Amino acid sequence: MADCVFCKIIAGEVPSDIRYQDDKLIAFPDINPLAPVHLLIIPKKHIASLAELSEGESPLVGEMARVANQLAKKEGIAEKGYRVVINCGRQGGQGVSHLHMHLLGGRQLSGALG
Ligand code: AMP
Ligand code: ZN
Repeated sequence: MADCVFCKIIAGEVPSDIRYQDDKLIAFPDINPLAPVHLLIIPKKHIASLAELSEGESPLVGEMARVANQLAKKEGIAEKGYRVVINCGRQGGQGVSHLHMHLLGGRQLSGALG
């Protein structure tokens, strides 16, 4: 998608510190971190949101969770605990219309989701 900032990161047009990459997914730091570790895990394919995920694409979300777990270990937050979040749609708080999973950790997160 031409005007999608995450597609631009995938294409290397917007610089980012890529922390993970395979044929389907990449992960990079959130530009506005809400925790000491705040990474975004995204599919390379432009999928606008979780709601746009086709049935055939649903295994991607499992892969995203696998990468989140792997990165949590690498970033040293796996033992103490961390949070993964997917915001979907406007009321869900989704600001960037390219499916992404937040990985947050490194501080005590509140029990409430806001
Ligand atoms: P969401 O509100 O779930 O759509 O999250 C979108 C996230 O993308 C926000 O936390 C932003 O800080 C983050 N973000 C926006 N632009 C960039 C960028 N160029 N590089 C990294 N993260 C970004
Ligand atoms: Zn995109």
